[in-house]
Amino acid sequence: MRFSFPPAPVPTVPVVSGDMFPVRRIFCVGRNYADHAREMGSDPVREKPFFFTKPADAILENGSVMPYPPATENLHHEVELVVALGGGGRGIPVDRVDAEHVFGYAVGLDMTRRDLQAAAKAKGQPWDMAKGFDKSAPVSAILPVVQAQGMSRGRIALRVNGEVRQSGDIADMIWSVPELVHELSMLVELAPGDLIFTGTPAGVGPVARGDRLEATVAGLEPLIITIG
Ligand code: MN
Repeated sequence: MRFSFPPAPVPTVPVVSGDMFPVRRIFCVGRNYADHAREMGSDPVREKPFFFTKPADAILENGSVMPYPPATENLHHEVELVVALGGGGRGIPVDRVDAEHVFGYAVGLDMTRRDLQAAAKAKGQPWDMAKGFDKSAPVSAILPVVQAQGMSRGRIALRVNGEVRQSGDIADMIWSVPELVHELSMLVELAPGDLIFTGTPAGVGPVARGDRLEATVAGLEPLIITIG
């Protein structure tokens, strides 16, 4: 095969072992913590989870400066547990989701142009430009599931310039990791390299140029970025 021009490099996220995890797709789930659903004006009901995506090359390496993106005056942080898939399939039963599918876990930030999202919601338009902009998906190094032991509970938090803005527990997710993998696999055929951002607890808010964001999930490498 001869390409018309050199193909773009495969986006990657480091694994704590030193390997690189090749990213295929980025799926995100909306309103997966009741307190965040309420702060966004929704009722936290357990109806089917809904998903949106970011492009794989929206990944931003831990420790980076994230340039303040264009076309927004309301850039928000959303700290999230990220599930990295090492296996895939379609129609995966909830009770069959295991280490064959889940490669590991990381901390992510679902950075959001909230003003564009509000405008899209009001017009019934897609969220892509609110969620899937360049460098909108900072992710920490992936901890392989064999070292992560479950990850069904634990503190999730976000600090801006040292001040706690978001704090919750991943046990409070409305849809658990196995349930999310199952539900997504009923919509698309999942594959190794897929990442799932699992939603954010309450306390989302704006960031400004120069802010230092520290996103943490108990047991995982902290994710630290600075807004440029
Ligand atoms: Mn989110």
